[in-house]
Amino acid sequence: MPASQPGSCLVVGAGISGLLAARGLHDAGWRVTVVDKARGVGGRMATRRVGSGNFDHGAQFFTVRSERFAQLVEEWTAAGVVEEWSRGFAGPDGEPRADGHPRYRGTRGMTSAPKHLAHGLDVRTGERVVTVRHRQDGWEMACESGLRVSGTALVMTPPAPQALALVESGGYELPAEERRQLAKISYDPCLALMAVLDGPTGVPEPGGVQIKGEPLDWIGDNRRKGISETPGITVHAGPEWSRDHFDAPDDEVASSLLALAGDQLEADLSPRVVETSLARWRYSWVTGSHEEPFLAISEDHPLVFAGDAFGQPKVEGAALSGLAAAGHLLGRDV
Ligand SMILES: Cc1cc2nc3c(=O)[nH]c(=O)nc-3n(C[C@H](O)[C@H](O)[C@H](O)COP(=O)(O)OP(=O)(O)OC[C@H]3O[C@@H](n4cnc5c(N)ncnc54)[C@H](O)[C@@H]3O)c2cc1C
Repeated sequence: MPASQPGSCLVVGAGISGLLAARGLHDAGWRVTVVDKARGVGGRMATRRVGSGNFDHGAQFFTVRSERFAQLVEEWTAAGVVEEWSRGFAGPDGEPRADGHPRYRGTRGMTSAPKHLAHGLDVRTGERVVTVRHRQDGWEMACESGLRVSGTALVMTPPAPQALALVESGGYELPAEERRQLAKISYDPCLALMAVLDGPTGVPEPGGVQIKGEPLDWIGDNRRKGISETPGITVHAGPEWSRDHFDAPDDEVASSLLALAGDQLEADLSPRVVETSLARWRYSWVTGSHEEPFLAISEDHPLVFAGDAFGQPKVEGAALSGLAAAGHLLGRDV
């Protein structure tokens, strides 16, 4: 177990796992720098402005199973950044499927909780890490912009294939067994369409149709959800459809997904579309994970891999993994 006196740490990724790892270390007196290539924080808890609409286009909601995560969600609720959305959504047939389990949303979109967590931390957004190097005194990462940051410990939270490529980019050699475990981690892709409409979307209360299948996985109404003044839908394609169309041109994907969503909602959406935007998530849902909540490469200068591929999946799993990574470096529970 690494020493518990305050050190310095680099965290790659300002998604929920990276921010919680950073928060835990920062609160224990560590010097922490978080770097993310995106314009804002949140990672796959993502909210985007399209025209006059506000869209959640990554995670749509989250659930709570563990006591530790319930505590966090209580704190976020008290801070006004998350709230219960519903206890179930409409199924593929449009009929309500309430099951009594709360689903949570960010109060201004899914990025609300990550923004809250980032407050007071040294978070550099818009900085893509291109090289990670292990040096005599710790770790150094170089960003596309020329920024260089160093620390004695390194926490990597991008999806595992990206994390692995980065760690090896500066010639660092991972132990064979750990490398094999990281290389086994896999994800499904997801094509996510956001469409601003000129009127109601046809998505029933409480604002989501959960299909969990092919060709569509989900249709969400961002106005019914309470995060957009303007009507707009988020359409998630299923993993198979997303894989088959991942490299197709935007307009082709958009018109196909609008037609499929229209069929699902029994409405002709295309004439009512004001504007669209497409997000391509190469790594969306974890399909093959690492059993433990983090993977640590033990040495003088710790390297810890964390995120939703470690332990449990989804927002809750990512959050718990971030806490576990910080706990490992601190030598105590966070
Ligand atoms: C379409 C979709 C729908 C989903 N729906 C749900 C849902 O309904 N409920 C649920 O619980 N979960 C859902 N999820 C999963 C959930 O969003 C994730 O499990 C969770 O947000 C992952 O958090 P993380 O911190 O592990 O990773 P991420 O949020 O992916 O954070 C990793 C960060 O690393 C950054 N990064 C990567 N490479 C670099 C680099 N070279 N330099 C700098 N930064 C870099 C990225 O920009 C990113 O911000 C969904 C995901 C997607 C994509």
